[in-house]
Amino acid sequence: MSSRSMISGIQSRVFRVPLEEPMQDARHGLQTHFELVTAEITTSDGQTGTGYTYTIGTGGHATKAMIDHDLAPMLIGHDADAIDQHYDEMQSRLHYVGRGGIASFAISAIDIALWDLRGKSRGLPLWKMAGGAGKTPLTYRGGVDLNYPLEKLVKSVGGYIDQGFVAVKIKVGKPDLAEDVARLHAVRERIGPAHKLMVDGNFGYDLDQAIAAAKAFEPFDLTWFEEPMEPDDFAGYGQLAKATTVPLAMGENLHTLQEFKHAFEHSSLSFIQPDASNCGGVTGFLRVAKLAEARGIPVCSHGMQELHVSLVPAVPNAGWLEVHAFQIDRYTHRPLVVENGRAVAPDEPGSGVRFNWQALEEADRA
Ligand SMILES: [Mg+2]
Repeated sequence: MSSRSMISGIQSRVFRVPLEEPMQDARHGLQTHFELVTAEITTSDGQTGTGYTYTIGTGGHATKAMIDHDLAPMLIGHDADAIDQHYDEMQSRLHYVGRGGIASFAISAIDIALWDLRGKSRGLPLWKMAGGAGKTPLTYRGGVDLNYPLEKLVKSVGGYIDQGFVAVKIKVGKPDLAEDVARLHAVRERIGPAHKLMVDGNFGYDLDQAIAAAKAFEPFDLTWFEEPMEPDDFAGYGQLAKATTVPLAMGENLHTLQEFKHAFEHSSLSFIQPDASNCGGVTGFLRVAKLAEARGIPVCSHGMQELHVSLVPAVPNAGWLEVHAFQIDRYTHRPLVVENGRAVAPDEPGSGVRFNWQALEEADRA
């Protein structure tokens, strides 16, 4: 940036967006809406950057309050391009009440807006600013489908393959393990041996149950078993990894760098899945990616595919991009582009995520 651009205003909004149909996993109950919290940062030289985070239905207003009352006063009047400095300052000032949780969501929305501004100022797309290693990540379609009867599950997963996806993920965690096994059997049969298959337990198991499930899932050639147990049970993951050949993945519920460090230290993960909407935005995601790179662990993503499409492939240790069932990209001017089974990052300067505000307002009113 040639001359310094100062943050002059931050406007936040919350939208409650209905899902096309109710969705369910092992632990979060039936989900009918997601909340989108947006933060628009304006600068002294007349630029606007947009950031956002989302929730699975609760906490959006608390996140907005933290942006309005705590983060905006901290940032207004300061250099918009001092992103790392702002990141550390936000983390340290909110540490006492936050240390993860709502604070991490609020920081994420602001951080993404700052990166959007930086990209616009420098004329660079996010995938280049984030490392530039690539722009077409390995891509899979993740279902939120634990409530689907078997026939509907198979149809839904088959639909993803028919749309051109080469990898799919289903939810597991039925009260009777035999039912999960029957579902996996039917899904593997439908997609065939060439396509990749992942499962997600949404921390529905304790260690003994997770070991039993992982062993029962071994014949299905899974790419990973995601979040079988409570995300804080770092040592439990380490024990589970010793008991099964199925690779383990998690990260969507780790919100601080410290939590990721614990996971790398103790959990024997084969994949890490940070979510830039809740681990500190682009800055948080890239810091996690660096830690993972040092350990040779591929970085994947959770949700928010319209943004993560520019982050996952950009780092040297790129893993898989999740195409999540919460389709925020429906409310943007560039819904996710997938070609030959791989998503493609946008080349426009900034984050590449521009909201269709009118569509969001209409959805919120519906
Ligand atoms: Mg998950």
